[in-house]
Parts: sequence; C-alpha cells; structure tokens
Amino acid sequence: MKVSATMTQRLDDPRLFRQYAYVDGKWTHGDAGREEAVTDPATGEVLGHIPWLEADQIRGAVDAAERAFVQWRALRADERADRLLAWYDLIQENREDLAILMSMEQGKPLPDARGEVEYGASFIKWFAEQGKRTFGETIPSHIPNAALGTIKEPIGIAALITPWNFPLAMITRKAGAAMAAGCPVIVKPAGETPFSALALAELAERASIPAGIFNVVLGEPAEVSSILCKEERVKALSFTGSTRVGRLLLEQSAGTVKRVSLELGGNAPFIVGPDMDPHEAALAAVAAKFQTAGQDCLAANRILVHESIHDAFVEHFAERMAALTVGNGLQSEVDLGPLIHGQAVEKASSIVDDAISRGATLVAGDQSAAPGPNFFMPVLLTGVTREMKVWREENFAPVAGITAYSDDDEVIAMANDTEYGLAAYVYTHDIRRIWKLMRALEYGMVSVNSVKMTGPPIPFGGVKQSGLGREGGVSGIDEYLETKYYCLGAL
Ligand code: NAD
Repeated sequence: MKVSATMTQRLDDPRLFRQYAYVDGKWTHGDAGREEAVTDPATGEVLGHIPWLEADQIRGAVDAAERAFVQWRALRADERADRLLAWYDLIQENREDLAILMSMEQGKPLPDARGEVEYGASFIKWFAEQGKRTFGETIPSHIPNAALGTIKEPIGIAALITPWNFPLAMITRKAGAAMAAGCPVIVKPAGETPFSALALAELAERASIPAGIFNVVLGEPAEVSSILCKEERVKALSFTGSTRVGRLLLEQSAGTVKRVSLELGGNAPFIVGPDMDPHEAALAAVAAKFQTAGQDCLAANRILVHESIHDAFVEHFAERMAALTVGNGLQSEVDLGPLIHGQAVEKASSIVDDAISRGATLVAGDQSAAPGPNFFMPVLLTGVTREMKVWREENFAPVAGITAYSDDDEVIAMANDTEYGLAAYVYTHDIRRIWKLMRALEYGMVSVNSVKMTGPPIPFGGVKQSGLGREGGVSGIDEYLETKYYCLGAL
C-alpha cells in the first residue's frame, strides 16, 4: 500500500488511512490504474492517492449492494441497531485519529474536526434508535370485514454523494438513516476528502457491518454520479453539494424515477433587530460567518443590520474578526484553516473585487497577511447591495457583507431576495418581530438568537433551490422507506 509518512506518523492507528475504494467488504483498486492525488490544502503536500474505479466496478458495487440487501433487510431493526451502535462506538474510540485525518485533508481546525466527528457519530446513534420506530398505521376500515393498514419497508439501494466541507458528517447523516431503515449504501465522497469516508469504511468493517452494506466508490465525479443516477437498481439518491450539481443529478435520476433528496447551497441572511445589543449580535454573526472558514452552507452570507445600530455593529464585528487567527488547522489556537483549493481563493477574490467595484467599502481584509497560497484572510465589506455577487452568490469563503435596513418589511424582502432558502438567523428580543420574521422568511430553518442550527433531532433542509427533503429528525429516516398499504379482506 502507498502510504503518506506524514499522515501515518500522526495517527495512533495508521490502518485508518486507506488509499483504496471499499466495495463488497474488499479494498479495491481501479482496474485501469487511473488514480488521483489528494493534497493537504494547508501545505500543498500530497497526502496520498485514491484509485478511480471503472464503470464496471461501479456497477459491481451495485451488484454487491443488491446481494447484501437481502440479508440486511431481513434482520430485525434491533439487530441492525446493534451493528450501527458498534460502529458508533468505534468512531468515538477513534475520534482523535479521525479528527486529525479530517483536518489534514479538509484543512479545518482540529477542535472543529473533533466536533464534526462527534456530530457525525451522533447521527448513527440517533438513527439506530429511530430504525426501531418505523411504525406503520392501522386505518379504520371503510370496507366491510376488512383490516387496513400500512407497513414501512426499506426503499432499496441508496447512492450517497457528498461534499468536502463536512467529509464525515455528511456521510453519516445519510448512511445512518439509510442503513437503519434496512438499505445498503454506495457512498461517493468528494475527491478532495476521500480519507474520512474510507476510515468510516474501515470502522464499519470492524463493527461487522456485512460486506456490501457500506460501500465507498471513487472515481471521476461526473462519470460515477451519472452511473449511479441512471442505474435502475439504485432506488434512492441523496446528494449534498452545490445547487448546480444537484440540478444535474436530479435530471439524470428522472429516467429511473428514483427517490431524490437534495441538500444544496445556502445564502443565509443574518438579521439584527434595532433592539439588539450590537456587541452581542456581532459576536454571534462572526461565529455564524466564519465557521469552516466560511465554507459552510449555513454561513451567514448577508448580514442585515438595522440602521440605528449599524455603525456600532460594524465596529464590534471588525474588532472580533481581527482577533481570528488564520493558519494550519493542526496548529493550536487556529480559528480559520485554508480554503479547499486555489479556485476557491480566486472565487473569493473575484467576489470581493466585484463588490468594491460596485461601491462596497472594504473595512478589513488584507490578503498580503495570508499564511499560504490557499489561505484567505477574513474580509468585511459594508454597503453591500443586491447587484453584487457577494449578495447573490454563496461565497463559500470568509467574506462577510453587511447591509443596513430601516424596517421589518424591508428586511424581509431583502432576506428573501435569493434563489436559496436553507437557513436564516434572526437576532432580536421583540417577540412580535420574532414571530413576524419567522413566518415571513422563506427558509427551511430559522434560528432566533442562536447560531446552533444542527443536530440529530433537527429536520435539516431547505426550500426553493436549496433542496428537497429533510435529513435528521424524526422524519429523516422516511427518505429511505416506502409505505406499503395493505388490505386484509373477507375476514
Ligand atoms: P459540489 O456540488 O461541487 O460537489 C458535491 C459532490 O458532487 C462531490 O462528491 C463531487 O465530487 C460531486 N460532483 C462534482 N461535480 C460533479 C458533476 N459534474 N457531476 C456529478 N457529481 C459531481 O459541491 P462541493 O463544492 O463539494 O460542496 C459545496 C456545496 O455543498 C455548497 O454549495 C454547499 O452549500 C453545499 N452543502 C450543502 C449542505 C446542506 O446540508 N444543504 C451541506 C454541506 C454543503
């Protein structure tokens, strides 16, 4: 096996670092020898290589999942839960290694990576329990001498296509639900961050999850995704990623009419009411903007502040932002790691340039202080208007844009002025304003006076072009279940 010395030296258990795909319980290389290098975004160092599987090998994963489905669905829900809980325990036991691995491939600060491992594991535990509660219903009969009802059945093979910004949790949020429901999964992780997915596979194997139930395929993204979307035997597609790719996969899935869940981009407004303490609100806004260096679908993209406290808010925001440390995520006391690659840095620069050329004020953000080519120093822009890219696009970078508003109706119109509808933040203590905004905001999730938007009990998801379906919560498992109606007649 080709092994990165740097990675293995850092891990207590180097066997968690795998450079093969995982199909049907076997570590698999690509038949044609195609492979891709994976680099550490902080240093540019090559961490390792992953194989690109050929089309037949991707179909082979579907064959394996089809075989494994027969036994997995026949297990009792509590038996599946036991296997999932064993997997959960192993993830927890290995959380430090998983966090190091994630920080190296993704760039995020180690404390954030540890948090993601905990968060990711929590979905497996949650769904292990929810799998025992996939109740059907009894329907009062309108047919003489008949009993009517429904039962829930696993939908079948699920393809899970995931992004690089949360390399572990975006997999477990889907796989936990699917596997608890009785479905085998084929995961296609982002090429930038495959090692977290492969470490999950290693731990699934140790947890005695049967071969063919948790598969990780690697390859050219468009090629692999298109095979999985067009494959008749894949019954559900769950995708987290950009709206652009989500639309494409939805189209590709139409031919086989499969169940599609999409967790796509966001362009979250962060609304600050006139009654707020500007210091308190600014601290919360900084937290909501700069998590994962702004590479977060929940990032506060458009900060809308009442004109009466705008200047004080900007001052506090700039002060807090100046205290953020940018650097390699493995170093202590780092708040922001690198962006994922050079194109992300270019995109961030072009968004800032566009805003300035259209009249925004650059309050802070000196890029000459960046500690390396993939790093982007936090930027604060004021006077942001709706024509600017920083307003219209998900910037996915540490670029904060602030706009002043004068009343609630104006801010509602501003907040809803986007094709996205994932998450919105509201900061105010006025109960009438809270209720009015909460109802009027066209978003799947509204968080009032809190930046905590995630967790297993929460039905996570968006409206408009932010997606279809919900992940997590009581209903998250339904994405992987069919409802079968029955009638027992002539009783
Ligand atoms: P992306 O759409 O570029 O990639 C996501 C996945 O799709 C990856 O596995 C990638 O390899 C694959 N892919 C890329 N191009 C493809 C193509 N042409 N055909 C088929 N598959 C392709 O997204 P990303 O850059 O990895 O992630 C960032 C995006 O994800 C942002 O828009 C962010 O908002 C979104 N996101 C959403 C949520 C949510 O829960 N709503 C969570 C995290 C990230």
